[in-house]
Amino acid sequence: MTNKTIVLAGGGHAHALLLHQLIRKPLPDAQVVMVSPDRYTPYSGMLPGLIAGQYQPNEMHINLAELCRLAGCEFVKGHAVKLDADNAILSIDGGRGFHYDWLSINTGSLPQSPEGFGQSDRGMTVIGVKPVKQFLSWLEDLEVQLPVLPYFALGVLGLGAAGAEVALALEQRLCQRFPGVTTHLVGAGGLLSGYPLTVQQYVREQLVARNIRLHENVQASLVPGGLQNGQGKTIFLNAVVLCTSARPDGWLQGSGLSLDEQGFVRVDNALRSLSHPNVFAAGDIATLSSQPHPKSGVYAVRHAAVLEVNLRHLLMGKRTIAYKPQRQSLALLNMADGRAIGARGAVTVSGRWVWHWKHWLDQRFMKQFPRGFLR
Ligand SMILES: Cc1cc2nc3c(=O)[nH]c(=O)nc-3n(C[C@H](O)[C@H](O)[C@H](O)COP(=O)(O)OP(=O)(O)OC[C@H]3O[C@@H](n4cnc5c(N)ncnc54)[C@H](O)[C@@H]3O)c2cc1C
Repeated sequence: MTNKTIVLAGGGHAHALLLHQLIRKPLPDAQVVMVSPDRYTPYSGMLPGLIAGQYQPNEMHINLAELCRLAGCEFVKGHAVKLDADNAILSIDGGRGFHYDWLSINTGSLPQSPEGFGQSDRGMTVIGVKPVKQFLSWLEDLEVQLPVLPYFALGVLGLGAAGAEVALALEQRLCQRFPGVTTHLVGAGGLLSGYPLTVQQYVREQLVARNIRLHENVQASLVPGGLQNGQGKTIFLNAVVLCTSARPDGWLQGSGLSLDEQGFVRVDNALRSLSHPNVFAAGDIATLSSQPHPKSGVYAVRHAAVLEVNLRHLLMGKRTIAYKPQRQSLALLNMADGRAIGARGAVTVSGRWVWHWKHWLDQRFMKQFPRGFLR
């Protein structure tokens, strides 16, 4: 059997778990190379806790380089910038190219930028919650400036779980230390739509109690110094953190891969590209064409097991297996004050014990990996 080259683009949840499995059971007759812009990848489930000061960065970052070493894989620091899927070549920044037999893409997603938004727009800073490293460094810089600012209006754009958690966590971190800071949570539609009413109500009460101003049904457009709602009213803000729905990074445009209308990779049930069966995609970057499901970490985690089996089966000349998305998933929202709320379908639970439960689950996940973080 000839040795096959498997290139892993990006070290998201699915690839981190794949590497974890390879430590236990290496792939037969294959050399595996991981390409990642950073040695460390964040576990976003713990990001609100990190913002709130409940965790340190090294507790919620997986050390990919060390994970690769343990799994006998090559780690290459670099950003995938171009894919030529017809000729099976992946290029990274700096010009290095990798010819592969199989490629697996797990490069995650970024928050959508509403039309007209760019960095430091019209006197207002606009920053995405992802990439996480960039967001954390912005937050640290902000904390240096806040002691001399008499007021600072901080907006979080996005009324989903991530937006609510980030707004509560920022309030927890900043508002007591810096009394001039006010927090706003803004978005189109209603708060936590798709979640049970009890969850919406609970989070609404938290926002009121913590003096976070909620602006619903705001189709935000950018105006000097803030955001304007559809009725011409301006919410004056000094900075806005984007926690909007997921969009792909643009590097796969022109790759020849079949992409959906947003630019995510269209895959079959075996997580293989519809156009190029030697390419897999997992996590947020993949759209399962037969049964699209939400872009969330719990699905990325479930993709890992199918990806591992299918790479193994291909190497052994066996048939691939199908991924079946779970119909319901557990959502646990960190209120950043020692409490959390959880929902699975219509069942909801809340309180301090729910935070401890979430903490236990997150620790259990992270214990599988070597951890670390360096700026
Ligand atoms: C604040 C917040 C809280 C969240 N909480 C939860 C939660 O509790 N539960 C949940 O299920 N989901 C949660 N999510 C959603 C979750 O973050 C994503 O669904 C999940 O991270 C997707 O995982 P992934 O494996 O696709 O990629 P990610 O884990 O996002 O990793 C992508 C990796 O690819 C790398 N990369 C990016 N571009 C390139 C490139 N061009 N070349 C090489 N590497 C690249 C990145 O550096 C990163 O290491 C949360 C999101 C946010 C913003």
